[in-house]
Amino acid sequence: MINVARLSVFLFFALCNSLQSIGQIHIDADFPGGNGVVDSIIGDTVYFHPDLTGTEGDWFYWNFRAISDQPQTWHFKSTKPNVMTALGAAFSEDGGYHWQWIDQQHNLGQDVFAFTFSGFDQAIRFSFAQPYTQKNFERFITSYQDDERLHLSSLCQSNQGRNVEQLVISNFRSEASSKILIIGRAHACEMMTNYVIEGIIEALLSGTPAMASLLEKAEVMIIPFLDKDGVENGNQGKNRIPRDHNRDYSGESIYATTRKIRSFIPKWTGDLPWIGIDLHNPWIKGTNNEWAYLVGNANPEIEEQQRRFAQILAESRRGSLIFDTKHGLLAFGEAWNKGSNYEKGKPFTAWAGQFFGKGLRLTTTLEFPYAINHDQVVTADNARSFGQDLIHAAAIYLAVIE
Ligand SMILES: [Zn+2]
Repeated sequence: MINVARLSVFLFFALCNSLQSIGQIHIDADFPGGNGVVDSIIGDTVYFHPDLTGTEGDWFYWNFRAISDQPQTWHFKSTKPNVMTALGAAFSEDGGYHWQWIDQQHNLGQDVFAFTFSGFDQAIRFSFAQPYTQKNFERFITSYQDDERLHLSSLCQSNQGRNVEQLVISNFRSEASSKILIIGRAHACEMMTNYVIEGIIEALLSGTPAMASLLEKAEVMIIPFLDKDGVENGNQGKNRIPRDHNRDYSGESIYATTRKIRSFIPKWTGDLPWIGIDLHNPWIKGTNNEWAYLVGNANPEIEEQQRRFAQILAESRRGSLIFDTKHGLLAFGEAWNKGSNYEKGKPFTAWAGQFFGKGLRLTTTLEFPYAINHDQVVTADNARSFGQDLIHAAAIYLAVIE
């Protein structure tokens, strides 16, 4: 009898479960940086894929809003492979200002994750990583807007007429004897670089002796959104047709920002020693995508300087994210870093490389991972710390070569 009673109770709960109503879910990507196409919603599962408009081949940027009309668990399954990191997805409860990775119990495999909505009509943003658009930058930079060491202006208007921000940070009291240029988002989807940039700005304006000394001698220019249109439109940006922003340094540039960099930066640096760093995020997961590294330049003399810089960064870093010399440089000719990768046009570092020996001391692409760095979980906070490490290493490098 007891067994039968237990079975009855079990059946009762099972029945309740199966009869529990599945609510409605609304999905949209109608906001800056939004991207996503819903294929279908079946039961408690949303099937979706990234919008690849304007992109050659597959890529993985998606960033959508989901509103569940009742508290319940929903599943989200991509109908395309390789659009989730090893951590599955990230979510934001405040409209995209703060992000965190999903509870890993809800990371249900390569292409699927779940999320439990706790309230009625709760709106949650989901993405493969932690999106960052102009509004994030504006909120960040507000607290520094009265700082005289920061000059925020416009590099140019984008092809679609948006303002492309340009920051110059220095103490401006004495003539600069060196320049540092840091650019990000040549590939619109690569948003984790903006947290690194926030860390760079925080460090530069921190007033520590090392940074005060750097600003005494150097001007640091930061361009946080090279492909501003792609960032705001929610494009992949990578492998943009007919060529993307980091293949736009050959012949006539087709994008206003790259055109302006090519005409303006040589005037800005003059004959002074300068460093040019182009920040990127790699592919979504696996080998060469889950640790930070510099991309070896085709010019071996520049690559030698990159090795030097990698060593300085590895030895001087204080933040929690690992950067080591064993993984810290992908030599030219290795893995994907071959001449064949640049057939569409020159990248920034090849363009900057022409000034090597005529002012330029170091140029490098830095690949910073989306989600995993040497088995460490990447967050906005530790990405900022990495940015602090990066600018400290640049300061040491400049001091060493002087
Ligand atoms: Zn890139």
